[in-house]
This record gives sequence, structure tokens and C-alpha cells, in this order.
Amino acid sequence: MRPPTVHRTPDWVQALRAKGLRATVQRVTVLDFLHHHPHADAEAIFQAVRPALPTISLQAVHLIVQGLSGKGLIRRISLPDSASARYETRIQDNHHHIQCIRCGRIEDVDCIVGHAPCIEPCDTHGMRILEASIVFRGVCQDCDDTASQRKEKP
Ligand SMILES: [Zn+2]
Ligand SMILES: [Zn+2]
Repeated sequence: MRPPTVHRTPDWVQALRAKGLRATVQRVTVLDFLHHHPHADAEAIFQAVRPALPTISLQAVHLIVQGLSGKGLIRRISLPDSASARYETRIQDNHHHIQCIRCGRIEDVDCIVGHAPCIEPCDTHGMRILEASIVFRGVCQDCDDTASQRKEKP
């Protein structure tokens, strides 16, 4: 049985302090945005938090996400069909991603909770495996529908 999903917003101030980081308004705002908009890149975060934080710069957002992922508060993911790195607050469960190769839409793919990695390599070349990172590439329903509509037109 899977544990029930908790939708409550985490206490970011506490989480930051537990990692030895100062709980600045900028960090908390970025974390809160990412929690509700997973897989955003630095540019998207910047555009979203700018109204609340008029003095923030894109460079500052880059530094914040670097710092947060360095401390393990967020996860940095790079996907073959995304030009820039994406970030999410869903960490520690070794979930994977599926991305539409047409529109770039990204969704989470769960793997067996508590079993990281969920695939075993034939040869680890002596390395201690921490996780398996898998990206499923596909075409989403919307893009498939658009493609078939185009075909139906005379
Ligand atoms: Zn799509
Ligand atoms: Zn994800």
C-alpha cells in the first residue's frame, strides 16, 4: 500500500533552517512557487515571482535554485526535450518523468516507493548507485489530437 499523498504546503522556513540556510523571502517564495508548479525552469520561476519580488533578477533566481538543489531542498532535472534545467520540490522518491516531444509537457511517473533505484544496471563499474534517472519520451494526447485533426482536413 502506498502512503497517502500529503498536499499540505511544507514549512519552508523550517526546511531552510534545517539545512543551515537563511529563510529569506526570496527563497521561501521560490520554494512555494515550485511546490505548486513543478518542473519549472529558472526563467519561468523568475517571471512568476517577479510581481511579488520586484527587486529580484534572473541571475538571483539562478543562484537561489542552485543553492536549494545543492542542499537537497529541490531536485534539478534535465530532460532531452527541454533546453533548460527544470526544478521540483518533490524529492527523495526517485520518481521519473515523461515528456511530450512535441509540446514539451512534463509529467511525473511514479516508481516503486522506497526502492531507489528501481532498475539494476548489469555493470556499475564499481560505483555505488544512488538513483536511477529515467526519462520517458512520448507524444501527449493533445498533440496527438491536433495531429489527427490536421490530417482530417481536406
Ligand atoms: Zn504534447
Ligand atoms: Zn517530477
